[in-house]
Formats: sequence, C-alpha cells, structure tokens
Amino acid sequence: MKVLIVGSGGREHALVWKIARSKRVKKVYCAPGNAGTAGLAENLDIKADDLDGLARFARANRIDLTVVGPEMPLVAGIAERFDRDGLRIFGPSRRAAELEGSKVFTKHLMRRHGIPSAEYQVFEDFEKARGYIEDRGAPIVVKADGLAAGKGVLVCQTVEEAVEGAKSILVDRDFGDAGASLVVEECLRGEEASIIALTDGKTIAPFEPAQDHKPVFDGDRGPNTGGMGAYSPAPVVTTEIMDRVVKEVLVPTVHAMSKEDRPFKGVLYAGIMITEQGPKVLEYNVRFGDPEAQPLLMRLECDLVDLLEAVVEGRLEDTEIRWDPRPAVCVVMASGGYPGKYEKGKPILGLDEAAKLEDVQVFHAGTAARGDEIVTAGGRVLGVTALGQDVKGAIDRAYEAVDRISWEGVQFRRDIGQFRFRPFGRCHLC
Ligand code: AMP
Repeated sequence: MKVLIVGSGGREHALVWKIARSKRVKKVYCAPGNAGTAGLAENLDIKADDLDGLARFARANRIDLTVVGPEMPLVAGIAERFDRDGLRIFGPSRRAAELEGSKVFTKHLMRRHGIPSAEYQVFEDFEKARGYIEDRGAPIVVKADGLAAGKGVLVCQTVEEAVEGAKSILVDRDFGDAGASLVVEECLRGEEASIIALTDGKTIAPFEPAQDHKPVFDGDRGPNTGGMGAYSPAPVVTTEIMDRVVKEVLVPTVHAMSKEDRPFKGVLYAGIMITEQGPKVLEYNVRFGDPEAQPLLMRLECDLVDLLEAVVEGRLEDTEIRWDPRPAVCVVMASGGYPGKYEKGKPILGLDEAAKLEDVQVFHAGTAARGDEIVTAGGRVLGVTALGQDVKGAIDRAYEAVDRISWEGVQFRRDIGQFRFRPFGRCHLC
C-alpha cells in the first residue's frame, strides 16, 4: 500500500512513524512534512491547503489511502475533493468538519440535541455582545466563530477584558472572517481532558484518554499555546467519566450529525471539562490532537492503517483496538519566545544521543534540514515522547531524552505528566 499523510507537525510525524510500521505499507509520503518525517517518508513540496495539488499527486501516484492531519484542509473540503476523483481519504467531509470549523454551528447543534456544554449566546453586533457580557459578569469566555489557529478563545477574568476581546473579534476583525460572529459563554470550572475516538458514523471506538498542557510555563502559568506536552492515560478520566462521555457526548453527537445530514467519519475529538455536574463539551476537533497524538500513537499496539481503513469502509464494528498498558508522556521542546515572537534556524544538537534511549521517540514539528544540520523552523520544534513502566518512569525517560537535546533559546516545561487534581476548584485558566 502507498499512504499519503497531509501536514507538517508533530502529530503528522507520529502518524508517519506509526503508519510506516504497518506490514501492509510499502511507501509513505508526507505533504509537506518536516525534517523528522523525511527519515521515514518521502516529503512532498505540496502544501496542506493545496487540495488540487494533493488530489493530483494521489491520482498520479495511485495512493491507496490519504490521512489528513490538520483541520484546515478538512474544513476546506479535502474529503469531497478526493471523493470526486475516487480517491480514498481518511477524514470527515466539509459539512461534518463544521463541528470544528464553526463554534456557532456546534453550540447550536449541542443545544438542539441536549449535549452538555456551557450556557452561551451568539452575537454579530458588538454593542449587544457588550451588554450581555456586562449583564453576565466575569469570569466569562469569548470565542471567535471560525478557525483561528487556536487563538480565537479568550478566557477572561474581568468584564473589561471580555469586552476588549469581543471588540478585537467583531470590530477590529483580528481573526478576519473567522470573527464575523462570536460566542460568549459561561466559564466552566473543573479539570480538562481530551477524548479522542474513531467513528465511521455507526460505531464509535474511543481511544485511551489523554490530557494536554496548554499554558507555556510550569504550574499552568502564562499564555496558552498549541500544547506544551501531553500524556496518556489521564487519571482524571475514570471509567465512570469515560462511560458518561461516551453516552452523553460521543453517541449523541454522532447521531445528531447523521440526523442533520452531516454523517461523521473520522476522528471525533471532544475537549471536555469535567465539572461538578459531569462532563461538558468545551470544543470538538475533527482530527487527532497535537500533541495528544504522539503519546497515544506510541501506546497503540494494533495496526493504525487497519483501523483507518475500517473507518473509511464503514466497518469499524469489526475491529478491536489494543493498547500498550504502559503510560506515555510527550514533552514539547519549543523555540524561545513561543507562543509570541521567536527566531528560527537554530541548529538542534543531541538528536542522535536522545534517539539511542529505549522506548523514546523524538517526533519533529517545526524542524527543517539545512545541509547536514537539523535546524528549528517553528514555535513547537520537537515532541519528545517516552513510554515507561509507570507514569514516573515515562516522565523520567522523556526528560532524560530532553536533557540530551539543546539549541540556543530552547524552552520546555519541567512538569509535564505531573497530574494535579483540582476538583472544581477554579475556573480553568482564570
Ligand atoms: P477551545 O478551543 O474552545 O477548546 O478553547 C481552548 C481552551 O480554552 C480550552 O482548552 C479551555 O482551557 C478554555 N476554555 C474554552 N471554553 C471554556 C469555558 N467555557 N470555560 C472555561 N474554559 C474554557
């Protein structure tokens, strides 16, 4: 089989790594990929949002399966584009990807179908949004409707901050058309978890739970990032919570999408807040999480290609997912200054030394090859991922690898995987 993976981050390196291990796969391509994927796949000079270019390549090279990493091509309709050419692709249709592409659509869908989530109102008019925010008071959450590269959600501690945020979205249009409307919602208190599942629209196969660390600094301080690390399993998601998420969130969501003529096939990822009243949906993603994919795919024991094909062919019911019981921890190493301004092109040292450690994978994200060197080329640079006999073992092993790698200005959190349970003690991030 020939498989094409679309994207260039740590998640895509992990997908390439896992898919290249399948006995059925002869050749892997990655478009555009990074310096890490280049070791296992042939990188293509085609951008992830060049839907026609990707379809042309897949047709000309008889690609058997294309797997889409990031949300953007899905929301832009890559699945329909490939379907039109009779090409097999793993990922939801444009209409189904609205679940991530529009927060307004998703909030209304959840309300219509009784799926637990925060109270909210939608606004297109700034003055009306201001009135509502002043009425409700802080803490309060303001969200741009469309895709905003993870930056369109503002968890605000004061009314002024929320009003300012609403203005930046609706009036200044800081997120362009993604901010034509906004959601103002109740700030939920509790512990967050990522529940990732495969679904073919009839069967749901949940993955082991994972948790990511979004704030840039230790102790969950500083601004939010794309994710500074992740681990699986997540102790906060007990069997009881997982059952409730499946029954109260995943099953009704897949049904709701079918009923509304948007059948969902692909990865359904629910960002959950575990509140005093039970699990509530913060957001949906329609693809694997990054960095959650890195520890999850290291723990997945079965052939990922078999699972993805079963989704595409609507026979997920016949499959079984097996997990390595050992926990996995992924520490993200980032460029100094991230998530703000940062420099690129810094030579990365120690990659070979880190790779010698058993049960460690160094997944690349923002990296590029320059002559014989590998240099930094993005904010999040590496996802150093390790398995261990227990959580402490996985953490120690991951940091042993991290300590062998360096570049000028590198930053990372020292507390990834150290789970702190804050039972409903605060509004998250407030
Ligand atoms: P989202 O992209 O909607 O998941 O939002 C990004 C992050 O903002 C989440 O992971 C939460 O940490 C936080 N967040 C979003 N919505 C809420 C909410 N209603 N209450 C508290 N925190 C929230």
